[in-house]
Amino acid sequence: MNEVEVAKVLAMVSALDSRNVNEPMVKMWTKVLNENTASPWTYDEATAAVPTYFATQTEYLSPRGLIVTMKQARERLAEERHSRELSEVEWRKTPEPVCREHSKRITHCLECCSVLHFQVAHMAGENLHRWAIANLYQPEEAWV
Ligand SMILES: [Zn+2]
Repeated sequence: MNEVEVAKVLAMVSALDSRNVNEPMVKMWTKVLNENTASPWTYDEATAAVPTYFATQTEYLSPRGLIVTMKQARERLAEERHSRELSEVEWRKTPEPVCREHSKRITHCLECCSVLHFQVAHMAGENLHRWAIANLYQPEEAWV
């Protein structure tokens, strides 16, 4: 984050705790927030962390407090991604569905694959799977 972005973040903070934001403060916050050079904090992460912090903490917000909040958000995201990946692995382990219309394995039926692909645009994971079971696949006993 650059100083302009940090100034905007501090303007949000100031709207919540009425602190007086000045130039030296913006400079030092920028310096502290950029200590983590391996994967720098982004403006989006910071603006998302401010309301989270004020909704969950009562302590006066320090740069450290903001960093911890951004870190927790990153960890949550990583966990969600991880469990999504795990459920995709689970999906791959189960028998392969067979389509009703053509009695082909779903990954071998171009027509039904394109139907699924179209559905993916507005459905995800479990919802898509449920939809496919209801509309596209033969009963589970027929899966191979
Ligand atoms: Zn088919």
